[in-house]
Amino acid sequence: MTNTQTVEKPKVLKKGMLDNVLEQFNSAADKIDLNNNVRKILSITNTEIIINFPVRMDNGDVEVFTGYRVQHNNALGPYKGGLRYHPTVDIDAARALAMWMTWKTSLAGLPYGGAKGGIQLDPSKYSKGELERITRRFTYALGENIGPEHDIPAPDVNTNDQTMAWIADTYMSTKSTSERSKNQHVVTGKPVGSGGLEGRDRATGYGVFLTIKFWAEKNKVSLKDKKFIVQGFGNVGFWAAHFLEGEGAKLVGVQDAFGSIQNKEGINVTDLFNYGKANKGSIVGFPEATEMDGKEFFGLDCDIVIPAALGNQITKHNAHTIKASLVAEGANGPTDIEGEKILLERGITIIPDIMCNSGGVIGSYFEWLQNRNGELWQLDEILEKIEKKLKTTFLKVTDYSEKKEVDMRTAAFSIAIERIEKAYILRGIFP
Ligand code: NAD
Repeated sequence: MTNTQTVEKPKVLKKGMLDNVLEQFNSAADKIDLNNNVRKILSITNTEIIINFPVRMDNGDVEVFTGYRVQHNNALGPYKGGLRYHPTVDIDAARALAMWMTWKTSLAGLPYGGAKGGIQLDPSKYSKGELERITRRFTYALGENIGPEHDIPAPDVNTNDQTMAWIADTYMSTKSTSERSKNQHVVTGKPVGSGGLEGRDRATGYGVFLTIKFWAEKNKVSLKDKKFIVQGFGNVGFWAAHFLEGEGAKLVGVQDAFGSIQNKEGINVTDLFNYGKANKGSIVGFPEATEMDGKEFFGLDCDIVIPAALGNQITKHNAHTIKASLVAEGANGPTDIEGEKILLERGITIIPDIMCNSGGVIGSYFEWLQNRNGELWQLDEILEKIEKKLKTTFLKVTDYSEKKEVDMRTAAFSIAIERIEKAYILRGIFP
């Protein structure tokens, strides 16, 4: 058996994020000459759960929903990863996102594996009461497939601290009274005051900002007056923009699910956030910017592009239009393989998702520890700890990338995969 065998994904699956993550994995695995047995294990997910469950709607009708939880690998610790509520959630998306979580937690040096899941739905079509019943019923149906020492979900697209509070409460309600409080860390990203971590709301966006700041420091570039655009003005996009604005950088374009806006003179991040809040989450119609054609969004004149929405957004169709010199991947899998090739050929730096948005899972780890140990940490102490952990990762990745003369994604994947390979080789495989 050679160490260079590329593991193909089954032919039945459609092309999408899963193709990207497998190609990224295989390419890094070839470069590090990954042990072929470990390659076989990591090329496939450990467990895949698909649940069809009924929920009563406000009008009395019953609707059946499909929920997913895919657990990719737990060699380094319990499965960890978000839950997404979106029409694009399907088994392939969950597989791909679960794999990225494995690399992300490994790269960050956390004692976790990778998982992801969600429900295929458009949450804007349901009332708060319906979303609560959908969430609680899905949690109940998942049963012991999640657990504080087994698989720990967190927020992702269209889920938030409220969703996590419903999950925690439902899961804990299935336990005996004396066991309840031992199970609070079944999810992270809970509201502060209900087991949540101060600053978990901003942890991902803060991390995106920090990786940009570390990159700027390394390249002796000032962020003051640098122009940036953000795709997705939700949790990640908003907080990344907020912290960048704090450094004097200028937000000149924003795109969300409803439309795209631009202003060369700059868009005030807080004003846009308040506008969106009062406008059902949409940025469209913000008075201090003009609307633009979404197809031209990534070609806006700027220095930094932050994709912070969905996967496969930077592709061969728009990568050649990007004027920025830096793409900081707030979203998971926003750049596809062809898009990445074009960016790298054009000399554009990519801060890869598994490092760029890892502030979120680092924050989640701190929340989990806090719950487990019955502690309460202060915000400044938490942000400092996130910065320290991310800096270590950033230095490791940039050092590896320079020494091995590879791009940052290949470096990040290589470090992440080597850590898991080592665990398998030390431990062996049962029986
Ligand atoms: P969110 O639901 O808070 O916000 C999503 C944003 O994307 C919204 O503004 C929405 O309008 C916009 N959007 C949706 N579809 C779009 C489209 N087709 N085009 C343009 N914009 C679109 O979600 P979030 O938590 O900010 O997550 C955003 C991304 O970051 C996802 O890829 C997620 O996996 C990743 N991520 C999130 C976290 C976290 O802690 N929340 C951690 C790591 C990575």
